[in-house]
Amino acid sequence: MHGAPVLEPRPGAGVRPVVGQTCPMNTLTPLCNGRCAIAGNHLFHGGDPSERYDFALLVWLIEGPAGPCLVDAGLRHVDEMNEGAAHVLAEPITQRPEEDVRALLSARGLAPEDIRTVVVTHLHFDHVDNLDLFTEARIVVSERGFREATKNPGWAGSWAPGKTLEGLTGPWADRVTLTDNAEVLPGIGTVWLGGHSPCSQGVLVATERGDGFLTGDVIFRWENLEQGRPIGVFDDLPECEAALARIAEMDAAVLPGHDPRVLHRYPDGFGGGP
Ligand SMILES: [Zn+2]
Repeated sequence: MHGAPVLEPRPGAGVRPVVGQTCPMNTLTPLCNGRCAIAGNHLFHGGDPSERYDFALLVWLIEGPAGPCLVDAGLRHVDEMNEGAAHVLAEPITQRPEEDVRALLSARGLAPEDIRTVVVTHLHFDHVDNLDLFTEARIVVSERGFREATKNPGWAGSWAPGKTLEGLTGPWADRVTLTDNAEVLPGIGTVWLGGHSPCSQGVLVATERGDGFLTGDVIFRWENLEQGRPIGVFDDLPECEAALARIAEMDAAVLPGHDPRVLHRYPDGFGGGP
């Protein structure tokens, strides 16, 4: 498992990719991997359980000098997720055939083997279920979170799927980069956030149109940021609040983890040329 250089601190924003300042050639495209709905008390800490909010399952494709990369691997075992996450799903996940990650990539002329790097925002099932498809990719996981996820014998109490931990510690281990707050590729850096899970990290991506910040599930939808209200599904509430405050200060376009509106706002991706 390899390390990566540590990022320069930046007042307010915390960190940013060092090389990204001079290598802003990335484009970020949201791919819809399925849909569901959650209740207001899960979108917001202290929210109204009678409210319903649409969710999209998102995988982000980054195209740039480092070759095609993904942020998160997406879901394919939909029934398993619907069973495991039933307590937070107001409407179960549906996934059309064209929303399968292999189909999404194929529609762009890509195969899973073409993906050079998968940066994992956190080790929850819907974000890592497809990791086994990316046999040629470097897999970037929060070091701090990974240590936490694997600290107990037999990974007892871990929030990460057993098959994912088996892969990361076994057959995939020589392709795994465990790191926190590092530039992992030119213009692409991770920012440890915690809160939603101990392994939650954001991904800061430098583009020609400025930086995009993929929050993972630390922010579910733009309302969390706009209303300053943390998510209602968390491991650590103070960390969620700190992450929200930190993201609000960032000089970057904030791209939430499950907001379906990113698909309409950035249908051709964020950051590309005119
Ligand atoms: Zn999620």
